[in-house]
Amino acid sequence: MIESRPDRSDHATLGPLSLAVHGGNRIDSTRALRTPLVMANSYLLPDDPSDISWSATTEGLYTRNSGVNQAALEEKLVALEGGEAAVALASGVAALHAVFFTHVRVGDHVLVSDVTYEATWRLWSELLPNRYGIEATFVDISDLDAVRDAVRPNTRMICIEAIANPTTKVADVTGVAQIAREASAILVVDSTFTPPPFYRPLADGADLVVHSLTKYINGHGDAMGGAVIGKADLVERIKADAMVDVGGIISPFNAWQIQRGSVTLPLRLRQQFASAHAIADLLDADSRVEYVAYPGLPGHEQHDLATRQFGGSGYGGTLAFAVRGGPDMQNRFVSQLRLITSGFSLGHDDSLIVHVGTEGGRVRYYPDEFRHFGHLRLSVGIEDQRDLLDDVEAALDATFGGGTS
Ligand SMILES: *Cc1c(COP(=O)(O)O)cnc(C)c1O
Repeated sequence: MIESRPDRSDHATLGPLSLAVHGGNRIDSTRALRTPLVMANSYLLPDDPSDISWSATTEGLYTRNSGVNQAALEEKLVALEGGEAAVALASGVAALHAVFFTHVRVGDHVLVSDVTYEATWRLWSELLPNRYGIEATFVDISDLDAVRDAVRPNTRMICIEAIANPTTKVADVTGVAQIAREASAILVVDSTFTPPPFYRPLADGADLVVHSLTKYINGHGDAMGGAVIGKADLVERIKADAMVDVGGIISPFNAWQIQRGSVTLPLRLRQQFASAHAIADLLDADSRVEYVAYPGLPGHEQHDLATRQFGGSGYGGTLAFAVRGGPDMQNRFVSQLRLITSGFSLGHDDSLIVHVGTEGGRVRYYPDEFRHFGHLRLSVGIEDQRDLLDDVEAALDATFGGGTS
């Protein structure tokens, strides 16, 4: 490091746009203005390395313990989320697994929101209970009394999503954090749909925040990654147990790419959230649309909570809806889109849509309309809002034979 250069990321007064640019950026002996990409598995040891712990997570040993690009990305995530420490891993699911693997054990009980990401559902409905003897109760996270009633003496963890994928149910993080505190349980918030600076669950009482970096934080659809950010002691244990000893580390290249992609995160979110709201309004007003789930709509069950919790700064960039008619009509609508692309992921610079049917174990917890009609999950990108609205409108017209509402 060049000592004379001020650290621009560690500044309490910096705003989120400045942190997104400067957070974690390191100038090293190459004098390159951007953190260099260091594709090394191993680092030069001191003259006497005999005392060094092989499981230490200090930098400059071995890349499964920590590497230059991983550490730089972690620094940035700490700055953006306002946490004490972070660990970056190979994918969002690797990050979720790392939290569960590290912080619960056989005989523990966990409360899980009944609407979650598919892999979270599978981990808690099958893998962890059946193979590792950890009990999970699925609970309606929007009903704080139900959450409180589901707590048991051995409840060690509560897992929620700030905005749930794909139903867009909004969790009252402050309310659930209170229950977790009373139960001495760890509150884990998957905040993939609500990245910083839009929302920071740690400020509302979460102990650990999980992100799929694959989504909004990288934002360009060209790298997978995941992260856990939060209290230092909890994160350090994840590094020791799940990173060093299980090994789901992020590649230096992906860490570098995600650090670069995240420079524009606040700018992208502003555009995506505004366009998502505009598209939700358009769909909501169209009689050819069966239903729309988006927290920005006044009819959304947690609209007021979302306004309060997210400070009026938006309602996310992803929505779910169905057009009138069965699965064929949903497919026909998607096939008529010219700009919005059919694809699985979300939070990318390009708009992505996916048709999801009514099969699968977790669907039983979905709202009625999701269970009856299936849903189209639309992740809104940074294209011109006018182009996106035109694409949706034209696809509706083509799907329904040119008639308008
Ligand atoms: C995509 C996603 C994940 C998993 O992330 P990967 O990077 O695909 O492993 C976890 N949680 C939510 C809410 C997601 O949308």
